[in-house]
Amino acid sequence: MSIAIVWFRRDLRTENNPALMAALDAYEQVLPVYVHDPAADGDWSGGAASNWWLHHALVDLAQQLDQRLVVLQGPALAGLRRLVKESGADAVFWNRLYEPAAIERDTGIKQALREDGVRVESHNANLMFEPWTVANRQGLPFRVFTPFWKHLSALGLPTTRLPAHTSAAGRLAAPSVSGQVPVEALGLLPRISWDQGIAATWVPTRAGGLGRLDEFLATDLAHYDTGRDLPARDQVSRLSPYLHFGQLSPVEVAAAIPSSSPGAQAFLRELGWREFAAYQLYHFPHTTDAPLDKRFERFPWRDAPEDLAAWQQGRTGIPMVDAGMRQLWASGWMHNRVRMIVASFLVKNLLLPWQEGARWFWDTLVDADLASNSLGWQWTAGSGADAAPYFRVFNPVLQGQKFDANGDYVRHWVPELGGLPDKWIHRPWEAPADLLTDAGVRLGHDYPAPLVDLKLSRQRALQAWDQLKAGSRD
Ligand code: FAD
Repeated sequence: MSIAIVWFRRDLRTENNPALMAALDAYEQVLPVYVHDPAADGDWSGGAASNWWLHHALVDLAQQLDQRLVVLQGPALAGLRRLVKESGADAVFWNRLYEPAAIERDTGIKQALREDGVRVESHNANLMFEPWTVANRQGLPFRVFTPFWKHLSALGLPTTRLPAHTSAAGRLAAPSVSGQVPVEALGLLPRISWDQGIAATWVPTRAGGLGRLDEFLATDLAHYDTGRDLPARDQVSRLSPYLHFGQLSPVEVAAAIPSSSPGAQAFLRELGWREFAAYQLYHFPHTTDAPLDKRFERFPWRDAPEDLAAWQQGRTGIPMVDAGMRQLWASGWMHNRVRMIVASFLVKNLLLPWQEGARWFWDTLVDADLASNSLGWQWTAGSGADAAPYFRVFNPVLQGQKFDANGDYVRHWVPELGGLPDKWIHRPWEAPADLLTDAGVRLGHDYPAPLVDLKLSRQRALQAWDQLKAGSRD
């Protein structure tokens, strides 16, 4: 009986899973395994919200696999070697990851298993285009999104869905393996239960992802190009955690987009940003912690733990910022427009390092993704690929008035301001005293006074930028 191990990582689905399909094609039996190996992720092992999601995704994967999923604790190489020995498997299949630490680990494992005489095969399940297959005319990595996306669009987005493997049932091996643990033993769920809001918001299973996709296609895709910037309308897909954990593949999502309407085009372009993020991280692996633009290594960031805490806890006194940070804390997710607003406020108005923001997002987002998070933060800080220039400082009041004109988003997440008229909801500190009294708001009591003056802090940021530019010319 020929047996192949399929090592699941961030491809937590049985359909449209190239490694699983290839193993089923070539072997009589398949042994599915997940090895929990956070140490291999270096400084970027899963944050608390991601771990919550991972727990449920693994329970769901085990169900998809008729409870045949073997769960082991890391290190991965030792676990795989033991499994090979105990099961008599002579091959290991997996789908590739693209983060620097994962590449290093997987390269070592591939080499070690091959030296043991085990066949190793890796596949692509997580991207439409793998980073080493795309280069500009000079053979160099693209650094700007638009030409990158034009290039991918000209190549044609892959849309092939794998056929269901009809003979998969009954071909899953179920050996008794030493060291096997239940998913619960991985300790991924919080000890103190803070996850009710997240649990009420998400269905963290493959079926949940497919359901979300269907709903998005039916109700939101047509208006995505115009609605995607309005956080109260929530006309975005919310597919990011499903894509991160590989419960859905980007190829199957792209394949489900029915036409080339403006909504569809805008949505595919966002999937393109996900590709661009993975591409940038692959080519510039240090950008998780260090700025791509080296000038920013000397940026005069402030060290202000109290300001950082106020930002994290959604009590900066700037309604749009606080609404976003509270949405993040309560639901493990934040709307993209608001991610940009809160990030700009942190790095520009508070002059705090983008790395601090990236760390907080890492711990609190259910879709925390090293590539997209690093790109998003460096974009905002002005130090990354195709970044917003540093001197463009988002004004959170104007952003609120433009993208949350009726204040619905702020009213939902900052209910203590709910009684204020639309005109003042994004700037309560400027509201007439009697209006504040009528709305039951005492600034500094019921809701904080602004942590910084937006005008002065903007000027301070621009001065820091001027200083940096002057320094780099020396
Ligand atoms: P939709 O608008 O429905 O877009 C569809 C898909 O396209 C998303 O699910 C996502 O996979 C991809 N996508 C959309 N926008 C981007 C983008 N700007 N960059 C990369 N991919 C994108 N996204 C993450 O998945 N993980 C992160 O850790 C993350 N951190 C971010 C940090 C900052 C500071 C910023 C500004 C953005 C960050 N993003 C991150 C990108 C973006 O905000 C989210 O992907 C998006 O809000 C997810 O919601 P959605 O699925 O409804 O997106």
